[in-house]
Amino acid sequence: MQKANFSFYTNTLLDGGVVALPTETVYGLACLALNADAVDKVFRLKGRPASNPLIVHVLDLDQANGLSYPDEMCSLLSKRFWPGPLTLILPKKKVVPDNVTAGLDTVAIRSPSHPLFRKVLQLTGEPLAAPSANPYSKVSPTSAEEVITSFGNTCPPVLDGGKSEIGLESTVLDLSCQTPTILRPGPISKTEVEKVIGREVLNPNETIETGSPSKSPGLSVKHYAPETPVRLYPSLKELLSLAPSSSENLILIPSKKSLPLFDSYSAAVMYFSETGDPVEIGRNLYTSLHKGDLLKKKIIHIPLIEKTGGIVEAINDRLRRASTI
Ligand code: AMP
Ligand code: MG
Repeated sequence: MQKANFSFYTNTLLDGGVVALPTETVYGLACLALNADAVDKVFRLKGRPASNPLIVHVLDLDQANGLSYPDEMCSLLSKRFWPGPLTLILPKKKVVPDNVTAGLDTVAIRSPSHPLFRKVLQLTGEPLAAPSANPYSKVSPTSAEEVITSFGNTCPPVLDGGKSEIGLESTVLDLSCQTPTILRPGPISKTEVEKVIGREVLNPNETIETGSPSKSPGLSVKHYAPETPVRLYPSLKELLSLAPSSSENLILIPSKKSLPLFDSYSAAVMYFSETGDPVEIGRNLYTSLHKGDLLKKKIIHIPLIEKTGGIVEAINDRLRRASTI
């Protein structure tokens, strides 16, 4: 990792430019959240539809207060989980430009824990909008190299903060509706949130408000997909009985421990983790998909993770979104 030139990144941002910054979840494509022209640049660079709102990153609850109307639940959750991978959807104040929120009257806010991102937040003194630093609908980057590979010659300056510690996008929790609802599963689980606020939280498919447009317009089903088609299997057992063993295929399994099961296969076989530990799988998920893509096989075959709780739900959610066939 090079010594960071913070004044370069800070000045680029303050001049209305775009830079890629490391967070503990994935790398983000950052700009001043309150500068609508800078926000437009991020949408253009990503090729992201204007209907897909951005997450605004803040240093703390005080800064969030300037952008939104936090309630008691927000205070409790930010005290417990910020800085960290929890994004809260709150009623927005007028100061937040419409393009940040895709015209919604709510804004998504989180406080990242990565020390380099926090340093840039401190130096600019401004909230930063930052979607994942990848072209729209592609695999999210968890290292500076992955940002550079995915953008090629349109890549903005990247502040290298090493490999993202968590490797999966934040949990998105809507606090603007009657019953708090998880819009995107992530590193912080529904149960952890329920414990802190002392009330029930709904899952994405349980939302009780009907008749309105999608609550989270950006969460289209097909997302996070590598170029190579991905075929998912409900279990490793099913993959073993159904996936072709020929060499034009790649098989991506949760744990190195299962490698011997594929001894007779001509297919390339890669694994997400040494031990099958879900935290390690989460950290390596996108890097493995990036690497698997580079092999240019016909199909990538992946089993869902057969565990429950914690980060597993978020991993399986991303695998489902990555699967295209
Ligand atoms: P990304 O920027 O790739 O991490 O994705 C952020 C996601 O947060 C978007 O795709 C939206 O689904 C969600 N999001 C952001 N703002 C809002 C909002 N105001 N209401 C609901 N969902 C939001
Ligand atoms: Mg994204």
